Amino acid sequence: MRPELEGFPYAEEEEPERLRAFNRKLAEKGWIAPAWPAEYGGMGLGAVEQLVFGEEMSYARAPNGARGPAVGYAGPTIIMYGTEDQKRRHLPGITNWDVVWAQGFSEPNSGSDLASLQTTAVRDGDDWILNGSKIWTSHGHYAGWMYLLARTDSEAPKHRGISYFLLDLSSPGVTFQPLLNMAGRKGFGQFFFDNVRMPPGALLGEANRGWYMATTTLDLERSNIANAGAARRTIDDLCSFLRDSGSKAAAPHRARLAAHAVEVQVATMLSYRVASIIAGGGVPNQEASLLKLFLSELDQRISATGLAVLGLHGALMPGSPYERLHAQFALTYLTTVCRTIAGGTSEIQRNIIATRGLGLPR
Ligand SMILES: Cc1cc2nc3c(=O)[nH]c(=O)nc-3n(C[C@H](O)[C@H](O)[C@H](O)COP(=O)(O)OP(=O)(O)OC[C@H]3O[C@@H](n4cnc5c(N)ncnc54)[C@H](O)[C@@H]3O)c2cc1C
Repeated sequence: MRPELEGFPYAEEEEPERLRAFNRKLAEKGWIAPAWPAEYGGMGLGAVEQLVFGEEMSYARAPNGARGPAVGYAGPTIIMYGTEDQKRRHLPGITNWDVVWAQGFSEPNSGSDLASLQTTAVRDGDDWILNGSKIWTSHGHYAGWMYLLARTDSEAPKHRGISYFLLDLSSPGVTFQPLLNMAGRKGFGQFFFDNVRMPPGALLGEANRGWYMATTTLDLERSNIANAGAARRTIDDLCSFLRDSGSKAAAPHRARLAAHAVEVQVATMLSYRVASIIAGGGVPNQEASLLKLFLSELDQRISATGLAVLGLHGALMPGSPYERLHAQFALTYLTTVCRTIAGGTSEIQRNIIATRGLGLPR
């Protein structure tokens, strides 16, 4: 770790020991992946039941952090496209919470235009040699494995020369550098790959078909990126604070909070629509973009309302004796900014809704 980053706190939801201890308790009960088949360590429940579970967990402000990528999109992608060996090897590590997974898609010069990625994997006998870099990698500080995209055919059209790999991050040649978010916390970082040798079992699906699998992962990511439980809890906290503060304090905020209550209900319905598509065996596409766009922008609006309700007290950081409601809005006002970037920006979601959803020409 770069010495100047030592001493900076982790983003609240990323504190590794707290997260590990909590997820181990869930694992003991078999509750990590409710919607996965029982043979792979899940509970054999449906996507809607998993959504209900996730809503309750986020309403309770239970730690989540790295469960999202592992349970919501890495695992399901492996279940869909992996060999039986890959499933047996990787899925129990998730449901026992022995291994944390990170997503290696974005690169310093490839974000929205992900198919332009430059990290390469070149065949060497049966192995692959990986070179390049991945950036903005959430949970990179404590992840053990990464699912990643690398270019395996530089001559092919850009979408057709990409393969999907599963990488052991303890492999020689892998290095990591944490990055600070705008709240001054460590939540993501950059990986560098210098002649990293990957065995044949690292390739998921067919070589050069990685883009098509990655679009499934991204659709599942946008479906799972959040649910409305946390937003509902925030509204409840604010209303409870205003009920205690009296009618004069509450009056200026009534209409705004009522509007948010409606928006949270809309987000809940959108979540159920997405979960129903997954429950029916489909992969939501523009529906997942609609949910991701609406909820990430709603979270920003609710954070701004929180600051307006709490006034100067709301802007105080954790540790101040004058903070209110655990300083949650001082942090979320900053940390929700990235919600409309991570998992694909709002502009990209609008492009998807306009073209694939509304059928407008590109
Ligand atoms: C908190 C956080 C966590 C993240 N975690 C991960 C992770 O774990 N793994 C991972 O791989 N990546 C991760 N990312 C990266 C994220 O996926 C990218 O930041 C995102 O896809 C945008 O890419 P970019 O940052 O390169 O911006 P760019 O693609 O350079 O976009 C810059 C601006 O141009 C706009 N733009 C670009 N193309 C278009 C277009 N066609 N039409 C309209 N507007 C356009 C964008 O909307 C944006 O406003 C994370 C990002 C954040 C903020």
